[in-house]
Amino acid sequence: VRLGIGDDCALLCVKPGEEIAVTTDFSITGRHFELAWHPPEAIGHRVLARGLSDLAAMGARPLAAFLSLGVPAELVRGGSARSGKPGRQSRPGQQCWIDRFYNGLLALAGEFHAPLAGGDLSESPIAAADIVLLGAVPQGKALLRSGARTGDAIYVTGSLGGAAAGLALLKGLAGTQKTSAAVGLKIPRKFEAALARHLYPQPRVRQGLWLSKRGVATAAIDLSDGLSTDLHHLCDESGVAAEVNADALPISAGATLMQALHGGEDYELLFTARPGARVPRKIAGVPITRIGSVTRRSTKRPVVTLVTPAGGEALEALGWEHFA
Ligand SMILES: [Mg+2]
Repeated sequence: VRLGIGDDCALLCVKPGEEIAVTTDFSITGRHFELAWHPPEAIGHRVLARGLSDLAAMGARPLAAFLSLGVPAELVRGGSARSGKPGRQSRPGQQCWIDRFYNGLLALAGEFHAPLAGGDLSESPIAAADIVLLGAVPQGKALLRSGARTGDAIYVTGSLGGAAAGLALLKGLAGTQKTSAAVGLKIPRKFEAALARHLYPQPRVRQGLWLSKRGVATAAIDLSDGLSTDLHHLCDESGVAAEVNADALPISAGATLMQALHGGEDYELLFTARPGARVPRKIAGVPITRIGSVTRRSTKRPVVTLVTPAGGEALEALGWEHFA
């Protein structure tokens, strides 16, 4: 970022030979988060994590983030909702919802070198955040959904189902506390670890960069909607089918097989590689697990087959719409 917030536009520089990856994600209360449940820091973190995860899936290096935010007036107490200046700090101990939202977002932005380089803030009847992420990737090196070929092996980073298990736990907590829209639930310390995968997902930016730099992956997608749905997307774009071995799935501690298959919001990467490719057990500290194979597409077989000891069955795309 050569010029950030303060002028009419931000100015960005890329290195010669790079192309720009752009992604936009809209998060809205009641659908992507609940003001009465989610701590404001977690909402800010999750808004940015969604965009960073899309950059990760393309193997792009984050350049900058741009955020348009609409919030009800009562969440901006202590400052003007019309100042249009994100990142404003209030006195310690007096942080309102929007300060805490930015704290969560900016902490993640700092970690992944994705500075907030512009945006807009407006009073709105409901809370909604639209984030734009820009990234850079060497020309022709971006990981695409369309490159998987018959015979490729299918891998995932990290573990699956933890976000859905965390959401179920959060829903349970909501039934035990009086909640306020301005602060979300109070998270008891003993639940912090079990909720972390849902509240503070870690986008796999370093793993995506590693894969694009080494040219190991033939195709990739991030797991935002759930393995069953996102694997269908990848198969459709590549014109192939897939078999997933249920026994091989790295299921998060405390999660079920159904949550791992359909839960969504894990923000892990799913990628394919040629059968002989050297795929390490870990990339940048995150385990890599082979979960299946790419097969030839045929009208006689399901697009995605789940293989269990009992045999093969069609794995339908049942990714959750969490608050729908
Ligand atoms: Mg995506």
